[in-house]
Amino acid sequence: MTRTHPSHGSPSFACPHCQTQAQQDWSESVWVKLAKHSGSTRWRTIDRSECHVCEKEAIWFRTELSAPTVAGGLSPGAQTPDELWTMIWPPTAAGEPPHKQLPESLRDLYEEARAVAVFSPRAAAALLRLLTEDLVRQFADPNATLNDNIGALVRDGKLGSHDQQMADYLRITGNRAVHPGQVDDVDGEASRRADLMFTFINLLVERFIALPERIAEAYAQLPEGARAAVERRDSTGA
Ligand SMILES: [Zn+2]
Repeated sequence: MTRTHPSHGSPSFACPHCQTQAQQDWSESVWVKLAKHSGSTRWRTIDRSECHVCEKEAIWFRTELSAPTVAGGLSPGAQTPDELWTMIWPPTAAGEPPHKQLPESLRDLYEEARAVAVFSPRAAAALLRLLTEDLVRQFADPNATLNDNIGALVRDGKLGSHDQQMADYLRITGNRAVHPGQVDDVDGEASRRADLMFTFINLLVERFIALPERIAEAYAQLPEGARAAVERRDSTGA
């Protein structure tokens, strides 16, 4: 199912808590009375949505003050344009959650990129480019640049064409994000690219960390005789 960003009044969106595209229950608006000492009274409106899957809530805040005359009785949330609302809880994070086996040392950087991605997908892209460099150094030369490491891994046959394209996408998109004029400003394009970068990083973790571990574990459980036979086959080239 396509994931949609949370938006006010929407019957379903990607839940900011559990990341599932889920149906949302909207509660009646709450009106907050803002009475000044000078005597004038304004109203602030707050809405609440609840995720059908994890049952956690999001709190929405109407950015414009509401007129005092319609307070009470009506459902003012329904009368105001959705763009006047902003989600104030939970703190929004973009991108998918980090792979369980993303190294601990890179987790903060990943979460930092998620936290800034909503406001600045380009800042997120730059952080993710940095993360990719550190990640690739863990299974390549720890002192080489990302570009050199990708090249070396391809030459050694350790990086297939799909992995190479993902790694280069991360490298080039991250580089372009920090050079003014190199990034088109079409609405949503920068966010779409940043979203893809989170996905590609998780896929690289799966390919280079998680999958080899799972395979090695399964292989070690094969009968010893069978493994020895494989070794003989491959050492004699038969
Ligand atoms: Zn949820």
